[in-house]
Amino acid sequence: MSDKNESYMQTALKLAQRGIGSVEPNPAVGAVLVKANQVIGKGWHREFGGPHAEINALENCKTLGVNPRGATMYVSLEPCCHQAKTGPCTEAIIAAGLVKVVVATIDPSEHANGKGIEQLRNAGVEVVVGVCETQARLLNAPFFKFTATGKTWVILKWAQSIDSKVAYTDKSRERRWISGEQSRKDVHKLRRRAGAILVGINTVIADDPLLTARPVRSPHRKSTGALQGLTSNGARPSKGKKATRIVLDSHLRIPLDCKLLATTKEAPVLILTSQQTLRAHSQIVEKVNQKGAEVLAYPDAPARSNLYFLTSELAKRGIAQLLVEGGPTVIASFLKQRLADEIVVYITPKILGAQGGVGINPPMAELTEAVDLYNVDIKRFGDDVRLTGLSKKALDEISICP
Ligand SMILES: [Zn+2]
Repeated sequence: MSDKNESYMQTALKLAQRGIGSVEPNPAVGAVLVKANQVIGKGWHREFGGPHAEINALENCKTLGVNPRGATMYVSLEPCCHQAKTGPCTEAIIAAGLVKVVVATIDPSEHANGKGIEQLRNAGVEVVVGVCETQARLLNAPFFKFTATGKTWVILKWAQSIDSKVAYTDKSRERRWISGEQSRKDVHKLRRRAGAILVGINTVIADDPLLTARPVRSPHRKSTGALQGLTSNGARPSKGKKATRIVLDSHLRIPLDCKLLATTKEAPVLILTSQQTLRAHSQIVEKVNQKGAEVLAYPDAPARSNLYFLTSELAKRGIAQLLVEGGPTVIASFLKQRLADEIVVYITPKILGAQGGVGINPPMAELTEAVDLYNVDIKRFGDDVRLTGLSKKALDEISICP
């Protein structure tokens, strides 16, 4: 039975994954309905504000013309019992007459934290908790960290050639990016996860980036066989959550005509500078403010570091995930200050040699401690290879032993 439990939960976890990049800051959740050893419904939380996985699985079952009464639900997170936008899932489960719910892990949020499970048990539904728990926690690691510690999950992302260069010296024509198109598409998925995206001022001066996330692909996705009946209201394109774009700019060198400052109405822009600069350059601050961007100054002598100050500030603002897309110096600073939770590196099959500009290795050489990555995943995007992994600190924060 436990093998079967795990196999159905694996399906639920795979479904959950589909929501990543669209549901944040909610957790990604998947659900599978099983009756007489048959899967009779599948669902996942598709986008922020949309129906939860449990509701979508019940809807799917209904569309397929099957009565869920007496069925078992496998769900990757404790069902909610609070009045969310689609009503409490526990009530829907009880009303549908399910006899058993297998839950991968408890939802540590204040409004849940076992209450959903208790409600189901009180209604006579059998509940099993802890099937594929580690995997379920890793799937929503940023959510678990933020809920448990109130701290922002920090993702460091860069693309590099085999000889560890992050850009061409001459960025004209096709040489703007070193990674391939498929990798760059994947970066947009990363951006959609994040509540904030950060670069250093040198990146703004050199590349003039926009740092917005391209929306999710067409709402009319390919039909997925038995899943054709999924609720249509869950399939709207992303409402395009507006990640705050952050620039580390200690000396306020930001060009007033850059794309970031021209698009503050589309998504917020926050410039982090020092108190000293703030006092010395009040006119620039005023101009930047007029363009709709916020200037935030870290204390002259921050208790820990300016980056620590920033991540604490983001956490206070409810930002659960920060994506750092900075150049090598910025990336190395986050690593040195032990603020990195997740690392995403795209390695492109090129050796740039003398045509390569800045390299990732020189600033990394200043790291006093080696960084080991855990839960490593390697995936191909065209000819590029993406390597992802979590830091030991990240695992500690979500209470997972490597
Ligand atoms: Zn729910």
